Amino acid sequence: MKAVVTGGAGFIGSHLCDHLIAQGHTVTVVDDLSTGSMANLAQLGEDPRFTFVQGDILDRELVDGLVAEADAMYHLAAAVGVYNIVDKPLRSLRINLHGTENVVEAAVRHRVPYMVASTSEVYGKNDADGLTEDADRIYGPPTKSRWSYAAAKGLDELVAYVHGAESGVPCVITRFFNVVGPRQTGRYGMVVPRFVDQALAGEPITVYGTGTQRRCFGSVFDVVPAMTRLMDTPQSFNRAVNLGGREEVSIKGLADRVVELTGSDSAITFVDYEQAYGEGYEDMQRRFPDTSLAGELIGYEPTRDLDAIIR
Ligand code: NAD
Repeated sequence: MKAVVTGGAGFIGSHLCDHLIAQGHTVTVVDDLSTGSMANLAQLGEDPRFTFVQGDILDRELVDGLVAEADAMYHLAAAVGVYNIVDKPLRSLRINLHGTENVVEAAVRHRVPYMVASTSEVYGKNDADGLTEDADRIYGPPTKSRWSYAAAKGLDELVAYVHGAESGVPCVITRFFNVVGPRQTGRYGMVVPRFVDQALAGEPITVYGTGTQRRCFGSVFDVVPAMTRLMDTPQSFNRAVNLGGREEVSIKGLADRVVELTGSDSAITFVDYEQAYGEGYEDMQRRFPDTSLAGELIGYEPTRDLDAIIR
């Protein structure tokens, strides 16, 4: 099989490339290297089954030409990371909306089965108990907010779903919940690599907010094989499927585990959200996936606990 991976020089995309090549497939990556890097693909550099194309998914002709040759398409390219989204909201909207439209339209035009990477953030905050007009919506208040990312990803899901339903071309939507692993960088706000970098450098570990907010981290080594299995499973076509981990932890608890496992003597310090991300920034208290649908479809069962993920 020939697969195209958009965003294949990124964290999850590069692991997907490794996995597809190990399964015997041929892989073409299109990536503009905005947050990804060639270092993530160094291990595939000389492999004749691997091709790298530096380009932008907003380039319709480029995307169309690559997808026309493919048997499967995995769409992971996106403007990601809180810093990117909050600092360049227009650019991130453009890439995450129009880029996905280009990619999905090309897949449908050439009848190539496709996967679109979505996010737990489409669930919004989901922890309000009474809704007022001020409540955050999926598309958020028109302030400095990361909800533009959630809104664009929500629309991406619709674009993927509607095209899939109308055309009959197989489509899978994966909702990732805090996927972590080697090659992920803390540069754009991802908390586990940021804490690990700070601990290894002996710098203070900066917890944003109170640290009582709870998250659940999934290993890229569990998530990536699930992606290809979902694409091989017709029951998952035209569905959105949660993928993530199973062990919930508070962010302060995560910082404690990182300190212990790295043997660091870093202090744990607390920084206001607003100081970290700017005025008007809020975050949800809890994000935890129910992955039972993936369990039913492909027998998905996360195997790595938090310590293994941090290590
Ligand atoms: P990443 O930043 O490492 O990967 C994204 C890749 O897309 C990068 O290599 C980047 O250079 C590339 N890219 C960005 N804009 C592009 C453009 N216009 N044209 C071509 N390439 C472009 O991030 P990741 O964590 O690997 O995320 C991959 C996908 O998974 C994204 O769609 C993201 O929204 C989604 N996701 C990830 C997580 C997570 O926990 N890592 C959670 C939810 C959703």
